[in-house]
Amino acid sequence: MEAITSGALYQNTMKIVEDAGKLVSLSPNVIERLRYPRRALIVAVPVKMDDGRVKVFPGYRVQHNQTLGPFKGGIRYHHQVDLSEVAALASLMTFKNSLMGLPLGGAKGGVQVDPNKLSKAEIENLTRRFTSEISPFIGPDKDIPAPDVGTDSQTMAWMLDTFSLESGFSQTGVVTGKPVEIGGSLGREAATGLGVIFATEKALEKMNKRISEATLAIQGFGKVGMFAAIEGYAKGARVLAVSDVSGALYNERGLNIAELVRYVKEKKVVKDFPGGQHISNEELLTLPVDVLAPCALEGVIHKGNVHEVKAKIIVEGANGPTTREADEILHGAKVMVVPDILANGGGVVVSYFEWVQDISWLFWNEDEVRNRLREIIYKAFDKCWAFAEQEKVNMRTAAMGTSLLRLERAMKLRGQAW
Ligand code: GLU
Repeated sequence: MEAITSGALYQNTMKIVEDAGKLVSLSPNVIERLRYPRRALIVAVPVKMDDGRVKVFPGYRVQHNQTLGPFKGGIRYHHQVDLSEVAALASLMTFKNSLMGLPLGGAKGGVQVDPNKLSKAEIENLTRRFTSEISPFIGPDKDIPAPDVGTDSQTMAWMLDTFSLESGFSQTGVVTGKPVEIGGSLGREAATGLGVIFATEKALEKMNKRISEATLAIQGFGKVGMFAAIEGYAKGARVLAVSDVSGALYNERGLNIAELVRYVKEKKVVKDFPGGQHISNEELLTLPVDVLAPCALEGVIHKGNVHEVKAKIIVEGANGPTTREADEILHGAKVMVVPDILANGGGVVVSYFEWVQDISWLFWNEDEVRNRLREIIYKAFDKCWAFAEQEKVNMRTAAMGTSLLRLERAMKLRGQAW
């Protein structure tokens, strides 16, 4: 268990569970159960590289909890992936899915690999082999993967194909976040970013501000950050800064996101975009904006830089971007942090819509996806806000408390909690 529980994100997450659990008088037995994943799979993923050598990458699928329904959560390809990180992210999926009111449990997978160093053929081989290794444990009624950092709809298409070949028939519901042509949902690609903006609107509303009057800084310009920027920009917000691995861009009057998206489609990175000046990633995090949305990796706001943060609201597009020490300091400084399980829940909510559409073979239009997503995020936000006001706690504790209460009720009904 040490390999599971030793990581910083894992310990951080379990501390939040303990604090919120105590607050809502959760049974200590329930907390004890939620402290460990149900099952953790470690697989070797051998890949024949383009030069003929064989390289073995470590792969993981951690299934945390399935009280509310099948396991659900993304697959991450990143060089820093390890068992403890995947386990922490799996538990966050349990709490996120519970908070969003979905009939789904929580899981996460990952391969320790830098996908930028592999060719497309190598990534396809890696994906197919990884899928094959975890295939006895996944399926539309068991565990449904989706994209996460370093994976996308193409990765899901290969997973779907490999799983279906092994089953002998097409099983589109085995993954979500796949291309629309093979059973994906309209609006899934933009969903997490869209959810970030819905959560931002609600947070701003509490400060009597409209999104059209707000300034944003967005860290990360990928599957989450780019769509948050597009949506924020479309709603009239001024996106003062964005960043990616190549660095950060700043424009005090607001970046032209439509042009930037076109630029990035061609050049792949934000670097050298003519409509903004280059700043460092650290500078982006400390800009005096209304809303800072970290939409990349965990642990980016920490005790070393939190004192420099000037945003009034932080909306966590990424999972676990704020360390525990930083969180406490932000709370003391009256910065509103909209936590990951609330702010980035849009992705898995539309994954759920996709799964429902696949099972029913009936597909929805984009407006329907969008409207239903808005309703779920707004409702979850209101619930957390009411909890926070009543208990005089921050939004992170409120979100976790709300989530844990639903889980505990379900566990008790199923006879899983004593
Ligand atoms: N990877 C996303 C997350 O962290 C989406 C998971 C899903 O759609 O299953 O929430």
